[in-house]
Amino acid sequence: MTNTEAVSPQGLYPVDIITATCNCGHKIDHEFVGVERIYGFWMNLAQFLGVTPIPREVVFYCRKCGKEFASSMDRDICDYYSI
Ligand SMILES: [Zn+2]
Repeated sequence: MTNTEAVSPQGLYPVDIITATCNCGHKIDHEFVGVERIYGFWMNLAQFLGVTPIPREVVFYCRKCGKEFASSMDRDICDYYSI
């Protein structure tokens, strides 16, 4: 892909993540839904060294009911949440 414009994050997600909901029915783009980034050992080290770490997994959770209802280890999605 040569398009340098920012890609909508929605385009990244597989359909099972887009359609996933928590106990209260919130989807991943809802304001109550947060993202937890899970880093491996080497990425913790990278962060320590001042390198922007890329999570090895991202988990979507609801701040209201606390349910973790979707996660992904997709490289593109992890890259997107590396900031
Ligand atoms: Zn919820």
